[in-house]
Amino acid sequence: MTVLDRMDALTAQITNGPDGYSGVIGDEAWAQQIRRLVEMRGATLLAHNYQLPAIQDVADHVGDSLALSRIAAEAPEDTIVFAGVHFMAETAKILSPEKTVLIPDQRAGCSLADSITADQLQEWKAEHPDAVVVSYVNTTAAVKALTDICCTSSNAVEVVASIPEDREVLFCPDQFLGAHVRRETGRQNLHIWAGECHVHAGINGDELAEQARTHPDAELFVHPECGCATSALYLAGEGSFPAERVKILSTGGMLDAARDSSARQVLVATEVGMLHQLRRAAPDIDFQAVNDRASCRYMKMITPAALLRCLVEEADEVHVDAETARLARRSVTRMIEIGQPGGGE
Ligand code: SF4
Repeated sequence: MTVLDRMDALTAQITNGPDGYSGVIGDEAWAQQIRRLVEMRGATLLAHNYQLPAIQDVADHVGDSLALSRIAAEAPEDTIVFAGVHFMAETAKILSPEKTVLIPDQRAGCSLADSITADQLQEWKAEHPDAVVVSYVNTTAAVKALTDICCTSSNAVEVVASIPEDREVLFCPDQFLGAHVRRETGRQNLHIWAGECHVHAGINGDELAEQARTHPDAELFVHPECGCATSALYLAGEGSFPAERVKILSTGGMLDAARDSSARQVLVATEVGMLHQLRRAAPDIDFQAVNDRASCRYMKMITPAALLRCLVEEADEVHVDAETARLARRSVTRMIEIGQPGGGE
């Protein structure tokens, strides 16, 4: 069987259903075909930390959304394949408008990004015409275009603190991150949008307190990117877990801390996909999810079948109109100018 025959046979197995593309196993033969197609397309393949292990292992780079978008902008390749959810691929397109950006399944959304639409933000702004709008990176390009400054959870406090105290601030869409920022800055003129990520709303205070009690020597790693850990970030600040054992870390920081840690057990309060990178970085540590049901179904729509179809058909392509991209880029650039957005692989 030739290489092309093998690929045809693999492609013929792909099926499409409401939960995404399936029918292909992410094994060695699949990985070889993926790498061959990536090279043939002159592409670079990026995978978010919460992707399936097989997708992470076949990618050129693995990281958080902002770090990957920056890698996309700097990469010499003209085609970016972004294995992550839609707003992430959009952010890559905003930062590299001249490149072709592909996402393996454009139906991979984000409940946090969907918490606020551009129309809702427009109405909110009309109620507070002098306010400065700060939006988390988990937002659509259209929302970013209506935003003054974007933020990540690593720099949200710094971004809000940079705004003159007498100016009202509209903070969206994550209510947990907003509450954390209000507590840290003591700011009363900060209005918070009531959005949340459905996955991480499941990591609650009782669960964290119970984990602290039953794992008295464990450390707690909270990853502040992706919106995925902001409820844990908030609860850790509330004292649900002893502060001296809590580490709020970007992806790179989390991997470094894992390599340096003398802890025998580390509890991880974020999407379960992160465990794969941590176990690879520090195989002697017992990494456990605070909530092992914290798995994002949108992230998991990027299946081996979806990635294969994407590279074979060069689809789905991500488009952001030029004016939206220009305005959205401005809010992302302002964030980078104000403070370290955090992240890094
Ligand atoms: S885990 Fe939550 S914030 Fe992250 S992509 Fe999924 S829905 Fe969005």
